[in-house]
Parts: sequence; structure tokens; C-alpha cells
Amino acid sequence: MSENAPSLFTRIISRDIPAEILYEDELCIVINDIAPQALVHMLVIPKQEIARLVDAGQADQSILGHLLLVAGEVARQFGVDDAFRLVVNNGADAGQTVFHLHLHILAGAKGSKEFLEADIGG
Ligand code: AMP
Repeated sequence: MSENAPSLFTRIISRDIPAEILYEDELCIVINDIAPQALVHMLVIPKQEIARLVDAGQADQSILGHLLLVAGEVARQFGVDDAFRLVVNNGADAGQTVFHLHLHILAGAKGSKEFLEADIGG
């Protein structure tokens, strides 16, 4: 794949690859993770390709804030706003497998340890 090839998530955003799209606005989408590690496992993905969190700069401040706000909004929408985790894997050694920034939203049944112990590293 060439260095400029669209990322997997860009191909999902452009409907080139199918996915369960749960939310979309002009800046991001939210999809169901294809290999869920918790009862609820969604990914918040900016439409702009930023490979890793550390590749974001000052100019990306508003999109980064937007992703957090959308995470809270969809957590509310899916009824898990009282108990969810947000995870960002930054770099292959931290378990990042798709090099297009994304936030994992993980939630399980109330009181369950399942999602607290979920290993979402690659
Ligand atoms: P990470 O390991 O942090 O880069 O997370 C990448 C996530 O993308 C993993 O949890 C994968 O299960 C998920 N994933 C990979 N391919 C797809 C796909 N086609 N649709 C939805 N989620 C995917």
C-alpha cells in the first residue's frame, strides 16, 4: 500500500468498506468495533486523517475537543453515560493497529468487571 493510500477508517467514511455507522457529522463518525472487547465497543473517528494522537498539533485542538464531546453524546445516546471508558492506543507498541486516530468507547453491564478489564491493545 502506498504511503498516501486512504486509511481503513477513511475507506469506511467514504463507504468504500461497510461498517455499522452509529453517528455521523461533518467532522467525525462513530462505528461499532468489528471485534468488540466489551458489551458496547464503539470507535469515534475524525474524518481528518491524523495517524496517532501525538501527530495532532495545535491546529487540531477543536477536532480533538469535538471527538470527546461526541464520545459523551453517543455514550448518552446508547445509555452508557454513567459508566464507560475512553481509550486511545498511541503507537504499535501500545496496541495501535489502525493508524488513523480513534477513541475506543467501552462499556459493559453496570457493575461488571468485563469492560474494566478489557484488553483493547491490538
Ligand atoms: P487500535 O488497535 O487501537 O488501532 O484499534 C483498532 C480497532 O479497529 C480494533 O479494535 C479493531 O477491532 C477495529 N477494526 C478493525 N477493522 C475494523 C472494521 N472494518 N470495522 C470496525 N472496526 C474495525
